[in-house]
Formats: sequence, structure tokens, C-alpha cells
Amino acid sequence: MKIAVYNGVKNVGIRESELPQISHPEDVIVRVDRASICGSDLYIYRGDLHATMSPGVSGLGHEMVGHIVEVGSEVKRFKVGDRITAAYSVSCGQCDSCRQGVTAHCETTNKAVYGFGNAFGGMGGAQAEYMRIPYAEAHSEKIPDSISDDQAFFVSCNLPAAIRGIQNAQIKLGDFVGIIGLGTVGQLALRLAAKSGASRLFAIDKNPSRLKRAREIGAETILSGPNVKEQVLEMTGGKGLDAVIEAAGQPDAFDLSLSLLRPGGKYSGLGVYLGDNHPFNIGDVFLRDLNLSTHGFDNTHPNMWTAIRVIERGLIDPSQLITHRYALDDIAQAYQMFDQASDDVIKIAIHPQGL
Ligand SMILES: [Zn+2]
Ligand SMILES: [Zn+2]
Repeated sequence: MKIAVYNGVKNVGIRESELPQISHPEDVIVRVDRASICGSDLYIYRGDLHATMSPGVSGLGHEMVGHIVEVGSEVKRFKVGDRITAAYSVSCGQCDSCRQGVTAHCETTNKAVYGFGNAFGGMGGAQAEYMRIPYAEAHSEKIPDSISDDQAFFVSCNLPAAIRGIQNAQIKLGDFVGIIGLGTVGQLALRLAAKSGASRLFAIDKNPSRLKRAREIGAETILSGPNVKEQVLEMTGGKGLDAVIEAAGQPDAFDLSLSLLRPGGKYSGLGVYLGDNHPFNIGDVFLRDLNLSTHGFDNTHPNMWTAIRVIERGLIDPSQLITHRYALDDIAQAYQMFDQASDDVIKIAIHPQGL
């Protein structure tokens, strides 16, 4: 079978690999029907995790939906032919962390993540024709027939993350809510915020085409620049925002978020931060009574059921964010375009079984 592998910095290729085998009674083997490239995959692509990748060997990708082709002897909840999606992080469902709902910190798998190199369990990736899902019952969900493959792969990572962002923002009826960073997760959070009681939405990004998408669902938009704070204050009569959901993962976006909040405001971080120290004024956070939370190393599985319900009940349709499609063979091109954010790309669907 074919799998996508990390060959080096900005170098992704396809290689032939053995078909995955059941190696534990709780495994399932899945034929991947749809995968994608996540914003977090770009940290790998750009070499930020080079030390933990084995060039030419490490598989890539963690967002998927597919059909089960084989089940281990202890798998009860799934059978061959079921269509499932798995959380990006591999969790056992039995350890203390899993039982507390912090599934990304599973003690059994030691924080294993599909397609994220040796430091994260050396797991195979979803950008492949087939993949092995260990502890499948603990972090996979069956997909109802009413949900398409194009919708279902968002349940592995992006949609549960956006749901967590909404939960952490604690949006109250009538709130003014800002969203900074309008990639896939930011766009999903914006759409969920619009259904969560916010009276006005302020979308902030440096990319005009992403702002246009935000306007289409009723958000007021601001192009990133030196005067964002002044614009927001002017637009809100000097009040500022009740909550900011930050999905940029940049220290200056974090600083901007805090500056836009009114006293008692909520910062809900959805960006990925792999850096070290970043100074900020903790006295200001204290005196303005700000509430800070990040989705951290996201605990996806607890929100997968909600994500499925959000799609099934028509609250939002994540597949509207798919802008491009590639066969697995052409994934190098897909990574290149996603890395460069060219051609107004938002979300790329990868078709491991062909377009
Ligand atoms: Zn992801
Ligand atoms: Zn666990």
C-alpha cells in the first residue's frame, strides 16, 4: 500500500509499505477513504519536529474517515464494514488520564499521535491507503450514514478543537466575540460562535479571502495590522470584546487577544504553541480579571460525539471549508500549497483511494 512519509524539511513523498496487521486484540485496520492535512502537520513539514521524525519512514496525517476491514478479537463495538473516524491522539480509555477526559495525555500510549513521529509513539499516519487503530473502541466513533466522508474527517481533530474553543470562551447571550486567525479551526469556531448567542462577531486575519468567508456568515471583519485594537474599540463604543477565540498560534495574536478584551473577558486559545517563553503582563490579567484558557494538547475524544451531533443536526457543515482535493499520489503538491497558503486554500481533502 502507499503511505505519505516525511523525507525531510518541506519534503513529503509517497512510499510503498506493508499492509498494517492486527498486532493487539483491541486493534482495528481501516481502509482510509478520506484524509486531510491539518495546520499542525505544517510544523512537521517546516521541520520544527525534525529531530523526532525518521526521514523516509515516519508516516504523516491524523485526520481521517474510513471503513474497517479487520477487527481484533476483543473489539466488540465495531465490525468489519463499519465506517469510523479516529481521534488524532491515541488513547486507551482505561488509564487515569483517559478516565478524567484528558485523553491526549493517555498514560498507556504515552501521548501517542497518528503521524507525528517517534516522540509521539511512532504511529502510522492517516495519509495512507490503510492504517492501524490501536485501542480503537476508546477513541474512534462510528459515523452515521447521514454524514458524508467530506464532513466526517473533520471529527478527527478540527471540529472537536473548535467546540472546545467555544466551551472555553464561555459565550453568553449577547456577547461580542472576536475570532483571530481564520484557518479551518478559526472558521469552524466562527460558525459555532454564530450559533452560540453572540450578538456580534469580529473576525481578524491577514488574508482578505478568509475575511470574505467570515463576512458571508455575518461577521464584521478587520484586516490584521497595527490598528486592530483601535478599530475594535471604535466599533464597540470603547467596550472591547467579551471573548476572543485565538486560532493563530502566534505570540503577537495572543497579545492582541488580551488587548481586545473588556474587564472579565475570556481568552480561548486554539492555536498550537511549540515555543518557549513569551512575556506578558500578568498584573494586567489580574487587574482586568481576564480568564485565560487554551485547548492545549487537545483532548479530542470527549468532543467527538458533540462534533458528530453538530454535523448531523445541521448546525454547521464543515465540508464547505474544503477548497482543494488531491489524490494521495499528489500529496507533495498539496503540502506545498497548504504551506504557502496559496490559491485561497482553507482545507484540503486527500483521497487515498483515488479522486
Ligand atoms: Zn489536526
Ligand atoms: Zn489512557
